[in-house]
Amino acid sequence: MIVNEERNLVDKVHVDINREPILMISNLHKRYNEGQSNEVHALRGLDLTVQKGDMMAIMGPSGCGKTTLLNMIGHLDKRSSGKIIINGIDTTTLSDSQMTAFRRDNIGFIFQLFNLFPFLSAVENVETPLLLKGVKAGVAREQAKMLLRELGMGDRLYHLPLEVSGGQQQRIAVARALINQPAIILGDEPTGDLDSTTSADVMTLFRRINTINKQTLVLVTHNRWIAEHCDYIVHMTDGIVSSIEQGPFKEEEPNK
Ligand code: ADP
Ligand code: MG
Repeated sequence: MIVNEERNLVDKVHVDINREPILMISNLHKRYNEGQSNEVHALRGLDLTVQKGDMMAIMGPSGCGKTTLLNMIGHLDKRSSGKIIINGIDTTTLSDSQMTAFRRDNIGFIFQLFNLFPFLSAVENVETPLLLKGVKAGVAREQAKMLLRELGMGDRLYHLPLEVSGGQQQRIAVARALINQPAIILGDEPTGDLDSTTSADVMTLFRRINTINKQTLVLVTHNRWIAEHCDYIVHMTDGIVSSIEQGPFKEEEPNK
């Protein structure tokens, strides 16, 4: 079949290129309540390629499909049709259990509401992904402490989320997303609830991660100023990418 031949060709081309895109999405559709009277066609044949180490913002009006797209990239929900290749792997070829492991090892999530476990301390929240992966408790604890210290949270290791500020909660969430060193970090309004100073701190932190570890960041925001911290801005309208705005947007910070 032509479709299959095309698919093989895409895979071969993909394997051959040197600087692989970390993420390739083609003709992605998502319908909620498929076939029912309340069906919503949230993604309508979306195409997007993201290169390794990109720091990208997604903007667009409410309801245009931004969260749906992140959920598809993160494989938190099933697509209706289309192709998603992450790190050279066509994710439709993975079994459910392979997908779970793949997601755990390759993708970090940072949500607006942080989704921290309220009854776990900062360090316990951060070590959880390692424990789930089977890392020994003592080792996981040490790594979690190290990362939190690096993020300036060394004196809040044993505090519960509600005992620290919004910005500090966000740092815990960032640490938890980073502890596995995922290739891709997805953020849905990751600075949504933060004041502008704390937002700027979080964006600086993202840029640091991006520069040091070459991790790829895909951040949804409706704040233009936040988006301009990224390398480029992908604009979405009605379930597709409508335009891409290339940065840099900001003047270089003067040396202090
Ligand atoms: P955005 O994040 O850009 O605001 P969403 O991706 O959340 O947009 O939603 C895109 C469209 O899909 C909207 O019309 C929304 O109402 C609909 N939608 C989102 N999630 C669901 C769901 N679980 N069930 C049905 N419709 C949904
Ligand atoms: Mg949303």
